[in-house]
Amino acid sequence: MLNKIIPGLIDLIFPLNCALCGRFDPATKEQPLCRNCLEQIPYTHPPFCLKCGRNIRTYSEQGLCPDCILQPPGFDGAWAFTRYEPPMTNLIRTFKFHNKTSLRKTFTHIARSFIERYSLKLAADMLIPIPVHPVRLRERGYNQSELLAHGLAELTGIPLETHILKKHRLIPRQSDLKRKERWTNIQGAFRIENSSLIKNRHIFLVDDLLTTGATASVAANALKQAGAANVELIALSAA
Ligand SMILES: [Zn+2]
Ligand SMILES: [Zn+2]
Repeated sequence: MLNKIIPGLIDLIFPLNCALCGRFDPATKEQPLCRNCLEQIPYTHPPFCLKCGRNIRTYSEQGLCPDCILQPPGFDGAWAFTRYEPPMTNLIRTFKFHNKTSLRKTFTHIARSFIERYSLKLAADMLIPIPVHPVRLRERGYNQSELLAHGLAELTGIPLETHILKKHRLIPRQSDLKRKERWTNIQGAFRIENSSLIKNRHIFLVDDLLTTGATASVAANALKQAGAANVELIALSAA
């Protein structure tokens, strides 16, 4: 009897509706988006910029996009799984349900699809998510970059490391600032702990959203100054 009631209750509490558009779809039992919303996800496609991973629309001899030619980022290379367009904008900034388990499942689904699509062999010594300040963590309840990094650790077997890169200054949100201000705002925001663990290591920095590249560049430079050999970026989305 109880065996029948409990699954029924679970369906009432977690109905099989898409977390984004609200449409009923039994596929949302596996992860929270319906098949239609999953099909709308704008995956990044080649040719990829060798530095930031965005699609290059204009030919360049160096294999770089205009932004990376103008201001080379601090990281050595990047994969950005999707373009920051709907429904990614809703997923990353305004996801209504604030349910970290469902968000993590969707992020992992996107990562897996991209990795399989381009047969990527992702190899590094560790995954380090871009941290958020403890005050921001309390406001939101979780760090999106860390959710993605958890999924990537599952998919690739690369160890996740959250005790090395720390945010030690509470700064205005990068998203509230103009392009130029972001580079000044973020300077000196990170601190490295346990630096012996990253000496001569190859690191994947993990971020939810790549915009100007200021945050990831400053974090990558901090890791390299502390002895990391190579820092590449994995971003869920790039604007
Ligand atoms: Zn949907
Ligand atoms: Zn680029």
